[in-house]
Amino acid sequence: MSWVEQREELQRECTSIYKPARLVPLNTPNDMAITVGPWILIPKDWSVYSVRNVMEHECRHAQQYQWCGFGIHPIVGIPLFLLIYGLVLLPCFLALPRVFFELDAMAWSTRRKLRDGRMNTADARAKATRFAKAVFSWKYGKPFFWSLGRRWFINRVEQIIREEVGG
Ligand SMILES: [Zn+2]
Repeated sequence: MSWVEQREELQRECTSIYKPARLVPLNTPNDMAITVGPWILIPKDWSVYSVRNVMEHECRHAQQYQWCGFGIHPIVGIPLFLLIYGLVLLPCFLALPRVFFELDAMAWSTRRKLRDGRMNTADARAKATRFAKAVFSWKYGKPFFWSLGRRWFINRVEQIIREEVGG
């Protein structure tokens, strides 16, 4: 079942995470959601579960747009965010801002999910490794060296686990 059938409910959840964020159905099938300013573009054929899974991560990107818009609104931040995020597409291996936007979005959503029990520590660790692999792949334009960058993701998730769960 397409998430679009439960769009209103999902939008309410989305608004409660980050007020300006808007879920927008996308006709083109894609394995990634794309956030542009406050608009989170999600392929129509995704399930409700898949949408919930990425919602926090994408809301954080929308917030990052707001930072790039000097805190005014995510729409204001679109040019600067896209410039920074896309910066140094060529040459590859130097797009560090992209890595940090993704690291921040992962950290933020992982913290929220650990806090209310939607994720356990094993899931959080597995997710960090899996996501780091994706971010350092060609899927994200090979922004940096996997061998150097993956520790950032793993260390960050360990730090969040210490803070949220202890031990
Ligand atoms: Zn992302």
